[in-house]
Amino acid sequence: MRRDDAGRIEPGPDGYDYEVVPIAGARALKTYRCPGCDHEIRSGVPHVAVWRVEDTEGTDRRHWHTPCWRNRANRGPTRRRS
Ligand SMILES: [Zn+2]
Repeated sequence: MRRDDAGRIEPGPDGYDYEVVPIAGARALKTYRCPGCDHEIRSGVPHVAVWRVEDTEGTDRRHWHTPCWRNRANRGPTRRRS
């Protein structure tokens, strides 16, 4: 059960439901690459971590800039470009 994570469920750019958890700047200790804009999320920047709700272990979680996640429907995942 991961209900304690205080995340919310939102539909992702691929139509699946995602668990969305806000990451505070103080807890963002690494640099991530945002799949929305393909730019870095620097450490210390508040953002969101998302993963498929079926992925109960959160093994494939991705970090997005908060505005990129909000605009995900307009952008689509960049994964197929790589
Ligand atoms: Zn971004």
